[in-house]
Amino acid sequence: MDHFLYRDGALFAEDVPVAEIAAQVGTPFYCYSTATLTRHFQLFDDALEGMDHLVCYAMKAASNQAILKTLADLGAGMDVVSGGEYARAKAAGVPGDRIVFSGVGKTRAEMRLALEGGIRQFNVESEPEMVALSEVAVALGTTAPITVRVNPDVDAKTHAKIATGKSENKFGIPISRAREVYAEAAALPGLEVIGIDVHIGSQLTELEPFRLAYEKVAELTEVLRADGHDIRRLDLGGGLGIPYTRSNEAPPLPTEYGQLIRETLGHLGCEIEIEPGRLVAGNAGILVSKVIYVKSGEGRDFLILDAAMNDLIRPAMYEAHHDIVPLKEPAPGTEQAPFDVVGPVCESGDTFAKGRMLPPLAEGDLVAFRSAGAYGAVMSSEYNTRPLIPEVLVHGHQFAVIRERPTFDEIINRDTIPEWL
Ligand SMILES: *Cc1c(COP(=O)(O)O)cnc(C)c1O
Repeated sequence: MDHFLYRDGALFAEDVPVAEIAAQVGTPFYCYSTATLTRHFQLFDDALEGMDHLVCYAMKAASNQAILKTLADLGAGMDVVSGGEYARAKAAGVPGDRIVFSGVGKTRAEMRLALEGGIRQFNVESEPEMVALSEVAVALGTTAPITVRVNPDVDAKTHAKIATGKSENKFGIPISRAREVYAEAAALPGLEVIGIDVHIGSQLTELEPFRLAYEKVAELTEVLRADGHDIRRLDLGGGLGIPYTRSNEAPPLPTEYGQLIRETLGHLGCEIEIEPGRLVAGNAGILVSKVIYVKSGEGRDFLILDAAMNDLIRPAMYEAHHDIVPLKEPAPGTEQAPFDVVGPVCESGDTFAKGRMLPPLAEGDLVAFRSAGAYGAVMSSEYNTRPLIPEVLVHGHQFAVIRERPTFDEIINRDTIPEWL
C-alpha cells in the first residue's frame, strides 16, 4: 500500500499532483511519500509490539537526510554500513545508542568514528575484524559492544546478487564455528559480547528461509548461553520483500514476520532488533521521467526516456522489474502495445524493460517507475556526466526538494587539474 494513486485522471503523490512537481523541478527526479515511509516503519514497529525491540532502518536503501529525519523522529534506529552512513545518521539527529554498524569490511577509521561518536553495537563479521575492533577500542580506552554475524547457510530463495546467508556468500562467520569465534571474542580486551546477528538476504518473498535461520539462531542462543556468554540481544537483519508488480506477488506482511519472530525467538527473553530497508522505502518512492522520443525499430518500438541506468540501475543490475505508469491515467479500455523502455546512456544494458505493454505515449509525456524508493537514488551515478537527479519529499499538500540537481559547473569543478597541465 502506498500513497501514489490516480485522482481524476492524474497521478498524485499524497495530495500533490506529480505533474506539478515535474513542472517545477524538471525531470527526471525521485519523489518520496512521507505517509508511506511512516506507515511502513510503523508496520514493523507494531509487528514487534510487546517484545523489547528496536527497528533499525537499513539506511543504505535510501539515505537522504530528510528521509532519515522523518524516520528518526518516529523513533527509528539506523543500521549503517559505512563511516559515511554513520555520519549521515548522526547528522539526521539519530543518537549513537540507536545506531548499529554492519558490514563485512569496516575499517579501523570507521570503527574509531563510531566508538567516539557513540554506537549501539557493531555486528562483527570475521575474526580479523574482531581483532581490529578490539585494538581500536583498547587504544581509545573504551569497550565496543558486539554481536557476531553468523551465516546460517540457508537459501533465501532470492536473486543471487542479494542472497547473503549461504555458505558461499562473503557474509558472517559459518554458524558451525560460532562457539569457537564467540570464545575468542570473549577473550579479547575491549569487546563486550552482547548478542547474535543474522541477515540472510534481500527481497525475500517467503517466510520459510527466515524461519530456518531464526530457529538456528534460537538454538545457538541456548548453546552460547550455556558456554557462559550473556546473549541478550538478537539482530535479525532485514530482507522482507515488497511487491514490485501490482498483480501476482504477495510477499509476507510485517505482521506475519513479527509473528514468526515471536514464535521462533520470543521464549528467549532477548531484545529484538530488525533492520528493514527495502520494505520501508521501496514503495515510498517513484522515479518520474519524460519521454524524449518514441522510435520505431525493426519489429519493436522503443520508448526513449530522459531517465537512464545511472539514475536507476536495478533493472540492469538485477533484472529487476519496475511497473511503469503514465502520469495521465489512461481511459478505461485504452489499447496497450509493447515497448522496449530505454534510457539515453550508451550501453545496451540501459534498458528498463523489454516488450512492456503500455498505453500510447508520445514525446513529452511523463511516466513514473513505481517501487523505486529503495536502492534507487542511493545507487545512482553520474555516468555519461548525467547530473544526479533531484529528490523530492511530499508531505500531505506540501513538497520540498530534498536534494538539488547539480549544475554542470558543479560537477566539472569537483575535478582538479594537476599543476603540470
Ligand atoms: C542490506 C541490509 C539490510 C536491509 O535489507 P533490505 O532487504 O533492504 O530490508 C539489513 N541488514 C544488513 C546487514 C544489510 O546488509
